[in-house]
Amino acid sequence: MTEQATILIVEDEEKIATLLRDYLEKTGGYQTCWVNRGDEVMEAIDATPPDLVLLDLMLPGMDGLEVCKAIRARGSLPVIMITALVEEIDRLLGLELGADDYICKPFSPREVVARVKAVLRRASGTLQLPGGLVTDSGRRVASLNGQTLTLTPVEFELLSYLTQHPGQVFSRDQLINVIYKDYRVVSDRTVDTHVKNLRQKLAMASPKEEIIESVYGVGYRLVV
Ligand code: CA
Repeated sequence: MTEQATILIVEDEEKIATLLRDYLEKTGGYQTCWVNRGDEVMEAIDATPPDLVLLDLMLPGMDGLEVCKAIRARGSLPVIMITALVEEIDRLLGLELGADDYICKPFSPREVVARVKAVLRRASGTLQLPGGLVTDSGRRVASLNGQTLTLTPVEFELLSYLTQHPGQVFSRDQLINVIYKDYRVVSDRTVDTHVKNLRQKLAMASPKEEIIESVYGVGYRLVV
């Protein structure tokens, strides 16, 4: 990562928040922001878009579960959840919240920095394909032939997934599972609509090439 990543700490206990800030800034070299209420998180994200959120489960205003859902509804900003009980982690995993990792209190600050690093590394993959297509899953931006594509979160997810598996054909069902992590039931036609919109945006940046190909009776693939 060329510039300092910003970590948003959501924690109502000032002592813990201060400990996290110190460690993340001094040991990890990150920038940090801090909010102590769950219902102020989305506003804080809009004000200073972070690269990762460290999210405590028990919070005033809105609990960590709801906050995580709200973050996920808007995209795949990395989230590490912090809980006070080991047993809670199983329950949270079962809820399919889509958090990237879980840490249990009491934690060692060094462990937190290591986990943050690992999640950021996973999230910041920039992929560059020969056709001039670039996706950056850390910043959640994509470009084609140097032109930034204005994509919805679902379109980005779709493109990013296809880019990670160039040439491979995916059925509509497989793609539904990729773009809707909450396993909601949507029709094949929903996928087709997202693909159609995505194709239109790609065509605006590169009118001559077909980037996403329909494979009759099977699904879609990214042309390489
Ligand atoms: Ca708390």
